[in-house]
Amino acid sequence: MKHVIKEKITQFAKSIGFDLVGFSDIKVDEKNFKFYKDWLKKGNASSMDYLQKTSPRKDLKEILPSANTVISLATNYYYEQKPLKQGNGRVARYAYGRDYHKIIGKKLKQLEAFIKTLDANAETKSYVDTGPILERSFAEKSGLGTVGKNSCLITKEFGSWVFISEIITSLKIKSTNKILKKPSSKKDFAICGTCTRCIDSCPMQAIVSPGTIDARKCISYLTIENKKQIPKKIQAIIKKSKRLYGCDICQEVCPHNCRAKENNHEEFYNQPIATDQLNLQKILAIKSDAEFLKTFAGSPLMRAKRKGLQRNANIL
Ligand code: SF4
Ligand code: SF4
Repeated sequence: MKHVIKEKITQFAKSIGFDLVGFSDIKVDEKNFKFYKDWLKKGNASSMDYLQKTSPRKDLKEILPSANTVISLATNYYYEQKPLKQGNGRVARYAYGRDYHKIIGKKLKQLEAFIKTLDANAETKSYVDTGPILERSFAEKSGLGTVGKNSCLITKEFGSWVFISEIITSLKIKSTNKILKKPSSKKDFAICGTCTRCIDSCPMQAIVSPGTIDARKCISYLTIENKKQIPKKIQAIIKKSKRLYGCDICQEVCPHNCRAKENNHEEFYNQPIATDQLNLQKILAIKSDAEFLKTFAGSPLMRAKRKGLQRNANIL
């Protein structure tokens, strides 16, 4: 019966657009939890205070007391970007169209409703990207992929270009983990071998050690989450990188991403908003927050707000 439920959930998840599905128990991987806590202690989260909430990350029962299983899901979002035109700034791939939090969030609700048709007593709680759960660690535990030195989950099927999300459920489902039969006590980044391309290619030297990104130095953080002015020295580096919103460099250089495939999820691309690049003059010409909203409603770019995006455009 348990096996049937697992099959049915996997099939349904794939039918609504999740590319990879894995199952694990709810026990948090100790070495990943310690790694995360050390990362926080060193101030690497910068102003992202919501990341400081560690206790539910340690015990998923704080989120869902009846929790027994984590269903990890990955969705390919890769597409080929066009060459950057003169006068334009680059937008990170994940921000091409409508905000994935909304698209994936809707699919998660569908999947949760489906789970309840299998067992009316099943309890569920879902997250995409923002919940107090070590989602890459659980994705790794369920066998979806392995975290690399660039701190991304690298999958066999799509490289690192995947959105990760998960459903915590009360259902007891057998783990699909094939990789971590004997987990080591230290993170070893075995998938990377001797490669250090992401570390060497980061224009900000933000990957301060394998798997550790200092958000204070990362262009993604600086152009999206950071609401302050950016110091002149850093501005010069961002200008050279031509990154207007976010940064994909440490993924673009990863040899595992030779496995990247154009995604076939129309919902990400049938409503392009920011696309893969934006004209800087057009960004600077936006006169009001209302006009900004009209241009970018529904896009991840709303997170930077008009002030942040115009600050970035000014730098470029
Ligand atoms: S996203 Fe860009 S700035 Fe941040 S670590 Fe990767 S390469 Fe460096
Ligand atoms: S670029 Fe090399 S070191 Fe970095 S994540 Fe990919 S394989 Fe690992």
